[in-house]
Amino acid sequence: MDKLWLADGTFTRSLCFKMCIVLALRLHQLKNKTGNMIQTKAFAAFDAKTPLAPFDFERRNVRANDVQLEILYCGVCHSDLHQARDEWGGSIYPMVPGHEIVGKVVSVGSSVTKFKTGDTAGVGVMVDSCRTCKNCQKDLEQYCVEGMTGTYNAKERDGKTIAQGGYSTQIVVDERYVLKVAPELDLKAVAPLLCAGITTYSPLVYAGVKKGMKVGVVGLGGLGHMGVKFAASFGAEVTVLSTSPSKEADAKRLGATKFLLTTDEAAMKGYDSYFDVILDAISANHDYTKYLDLLDIDGKLLVVGLPTDAPKVLPFSLIKNRRSIIGSMIGGMKETQEMLDYCAANNIVSDVELINMQDINEAYERMLKGDVKYRFVIDLASLK
Ligand SMILES: [Zn+2]
Ligand SMILES: [Zn+2]
Repeated sequence: MDKLWLADGTFTRSLCFKMCIVLALRLHQLKNKTGNMIQTKAFAAFDAKTPLAPFDFERRNVRANDVQLEILYCGVCHSDLHQARDEWGGSIYPMVPGHEIVGKVVSVGSSVTKFKTGDTAGVGVMVDSCRTCKNCQKDLEQYCVEGMTGTYNAKERDGKTIAQGGYSTQIVVDERYVLKVAPELDLKAVAPLLCAGITTYSPLVYAGVKKGMKVGVVGLGGLGHMGVKFAASFGAEVTVLSTSPSKEADAKRLGATKFLLTTDEAAMKGYDSYFDVILDAISANHDYTKYLDLLDIDGKLLVVGLPTDAPKVLPFSLIKNRRSIIGSMIGGMKETQEMLDYCAANNIVSDVELINMQDINEAYERMLKGDVKYRFVIDLASLK
């Protein structure tokens, strides 16, 4: 039987089915309206192999302590690509990457004190942490004992909501994890400060980089170019170490005074035990010993790149000159705010190439070839 008989006539099954769909859609829209869920457009990775594609989803309602940002710009970090392609394992899909977020505050919860509608603000690599452990209490939330909540590819602290990042039009974050951004800066160039900026600023400050010190920067990419800018602004003599002679002019434009071609063995010998600090921002697999040998007494190799394989370290090169290898991961909320304020006061921003959201897959391919100076930043106006 393919007809449904009602008192006033007949309906085919297919018509009845269509009506049910329409009714269900209406109910869904009504629920969204009454629940105030925030409709968000985004680009997401749906698995490790296929290109990122459009994805619509809902952000949570603005709670008492939340700030809602309309995202203007989001930087493209190499870790976005690693996680979208599940290169570190455990990726959660669909995944909206992006943790270098700058936007305008469009609404605030009733208990918010730091922000008001219309402010310019930023969100970096984390959106929450336990807030009570010894590290959280020392403003080192990035090392939260329970683990910080990443801006994306992570579960919120309710254990079920999937955190989604900045390749999207909106984000809702507790104000404790939102940063103030000076509106007069070039906002697209501020976005990468939220990850690349703090990732290099924090270890350089920790190592006490100042005038009179000799700092080497290895890996002149998104991180490295910020390392050069910060170390130079702190008054250090900065040398860029690279395998590519073509980087020399740019290194000097960014603030380096010297350039060392690491494939030139004689030149490398000349820098034996020379540097106080070397910032290693290489994410490809490489040999740490080569750089350790260039460190002077109490020299520090600051590791911020994330190679996938265990690096080679020769103990003799480590004990000589009492050298150390120091790892560092982003920075706490307090230090990230200090970094943004320092950048505003000293007019430091990233060198960026603005792209539309729809260009992200091509940007990933170019990033893999090192073909970007020095950070892609997505203009979210392209998604509206
Ligand atoms: Zn990052
Ligand atoms: Zn904690």
